[in-house]
Amino acid sequence: MSQGRPVILVIDDDPTARLFVRGALEPAGMIVTEASGGQESLTVFEKLTPDLVVLDIVMPEMDGYLTCSRIRSLPRGKRIPILIMTGLDDPNSIALAYEHGATDFINKPVHATILCHHIRYMLRTSNVLQALVRSEARLELAQRIARIGNWDWNPRTNRFSMSNELCRLAGIRPQDFGGTFEGFLQLVHPDDRSAVRRALDNLVHHRALCDIDHRIVLPNGTDFTIHLQAEGVREEETDELTVIGTAQDITERKQAERAIHRLAYYDSLTGLANRVLFKDRLSHAISHAERHGQTLATLFIDLDRFKVINDTLGHTVGDLLLTQVAERLSESVRQSDSVARHADQEPSHALARLGGDEFTILLTALPNPEDAGRVARRILEALAHPFNIEGHEVFIAASIGISIYPSDGATVEALLKNADTAMYHAKEQGRNNCQFYSSGLNAAAAERLDLENDIRRALEREEFIVYYQPKLNIHSRKILGAEALIRWKHPKRGLVTPGVFLNAAIDTGLIRPMDEWVLRKACSQVKAWEQAGLSPITVSVNVSNSLFHGRTLPTTVGDALRESGLNPNQLELELTESIAMRDVEASITMLEGLRTMGVRLSIDDFGTGYSSLSYLQRFPLSRLKIDQSFVKDLQTNDNNVKITKAIIAMAHSLNLSVLAEGVETEEQLARLREEGCDEVQGYLFSRPVCAEDFELLLRGGADVRTAA
Ligand code: C2E
Ligand code: MG
Ligand code: MG
Repeated sequence: MSQGRPVILVIDDDPTARLFVRGALEPAGMIVTEASGGQESLTVFEKLTPDLVVLDIVMPEMDGYLTCSRIRSLPRGKRIPILIMTGLDDPNSIALAYEHGATDFINKPVHATILCHHIRYMLRTSNVLQALVRSEARLELAQRIARIGNWDWNPRTNRFSMSNELCRLAGIRPQDFGGTFEGFLQLVHPDDRSAVRRALDNLVHHRALCDIDHRIVLPNGTDFTIHLQAEGVREEETDELTVIGTAQDITERKQAERAIHRLAYYDSLTGLANRVLFKDRLSHAISHAERHGQTLATLFIDLDRFKVINDTLGHTVGDLLLTQVAERLSESVRQSDSVARHADQEPSHALARLGGDEFTILLTALPNPEDAGRVARRILEALAHPFNIEGHEVFIAASIGISIYPSDGATVEALLKNADTAMYHAKEQGRNNCQFYSSGLNAAAAERLDLENDIRRALEREEFIVYYQPKLNIHSRKILGAEALIRWKHPKRGLVTPGVFLNAAIDTGLIRPMDEWVLRKACSQVKAWEQAGLSPITVSVNVSNSLFHGRTLPTTVGDALRESGLNPNQLELELTESIAMRDVEASITMLEGLRTMGVRLSIDDFGTGYSSLSYLQRFPLSRLKIDQSFVKDLQTNDNNVKITKAIIAMAHSLNLSVLAEGVETEEQLARLREEGCDEVQGYLFSRPVCAEDFELLLRGGADVRTAA
């Protein structure tokens, strides 16, 4: 358009016709250019780019049809309105004109005013069309840049259409899309389909906002995330609902979010949590520990003389060392998870690098504060092996400070600060060691750690021995059997009873090899007495939780019986109520397996734990052992008499025999006999004694009553 005035190109070989058009249009403000033939018109068209073409059909050399299609094939001729103005009015000519790309058709002769209106109308339509095309193109471009596609769906007809950009995003060609809602769902990741369906259902039926992120699966199987938004629009006349929506590819945003999260919360060198994340976890752990009354520990680890390594071997070696240290620390923390006493508890220990050569560890749900010392010790051991870094053998040690919640602080800041203080204390103590913030714990932890190491060594050096305590028939006072009880012949401390070392053995997991050893030893000892000509007796062995719930018990028992040649019904296993009740179904299966082997089973310390009669009934037991606390004050405590009575009655009703533990006086014995107790065990007859002394008891060479 020239300064807002439309440019019209008239192509006609007849000068009068051209003059007529000019005369009709120029007064209406249009600019008219002329061409007298098809060929000429193409040159003029290219030069001027008119807004509309008026074209005659019958022309020499090149007719109107050919001219029309030539114009259409020019780059700027595709959308130009072309009006055919001709004297031919047969339907064939008209059809042919449209086929060649004409926009409209008008017959000569024509009135000037009508021609003018006709052309104005065509120009207006063409402008609107072009504006639409331009805005669609702009929209498409905008969508492409934003990676947004749009779609609409008519829930009644189920017609679903997707924009080109959405098809492109989904990796399909528009013509391949089926055009139904189900067709769209097919593109959605199977795990996300129900959520998408639900969101759109809610929109249609409850006018709820539809705004969800879901994945689209590309034809090659990979997927990406889009953000889907939709609105319902009601047609005014029909009240019909159409859902229109957008779908934006947010893969990059998600990736960026992840990258930002990594940068914000993780250490880029080691991949461990950073200070921010550690503090966050510690803060959550504190709230959790507060609610559940638990203990937790913060370990502050600082490498000793790391700066020296960094300065002499360079930063690259320093960085590699830090990554390897991080790996060993992770490994140590993992191990402390797997030996956690409460196997059913979620391991939730956290390791972080605060910066430089400083690391922190959070230990949650600690059974004892000293357990933190054990983890620290393991870390020091793990770091003690040399590191191999680019051919250098590097030695490193660490100083570790420990603070305990709640005793050393109840906030993130206090716990970190106090662990840090304790770490400095460890440095002062000559490095390569760990210190608790509360000094009292240092002594306790040190003692405990010594004890654990001692137990380990004692197992290797066979410093343990088995003592035997007789079990007697309450009426005949005849020895029916023995209970095997472990003792430790400590090189310095002398004979140590289980009360001193059992908990440490349980915590370290050493209890299991210890129990297995007692089991084998007791079986072969009892068999040996029998082979020496003494009358056969039974032997009972205490079974720890770790051994009982560890799956290997039947094999261990089987091996012990086979190796010793002892008759299975001479072996009795004692377990406490709490062990048996821990996992009742598993316990029943285990007990039934053992019972099938011929082994007898009894419940130890009965009355002190939580017992359920209905469960007891289901356990294939032979005996209940009444705990010594009931026997102790039978004389003075009426309540205990009642309980003892009840236990005996109940046991008998279940066909179990009853043994009373800890019988120290004749009075107790008399009372128990009165109440119908079957067997007894206690200092009144004999303390637990070594195998040689027990043999004397069996031979009747020593008075059962006076044995030490
Ligand atoms: P327990 O199985 O109930 O064993 C009875 C405990 O009572 C023994 O203590 C025994 O010396 C003591 N005792 C016996 N008669 C009397 C008495 O008349 N008066 C008093 N006051 N005490 C008496 P011990 O040997 O110190 O063992 C303590 C506990 O350690 C045992 O209780 C048992 O639960 C556990 N235990 C001992 N040996 C082993 C073992 O080899 N493996 C396992 N897992 N636990 C063991
Ligand atoms: Mg026992
Ligand atoms: Mg007992």
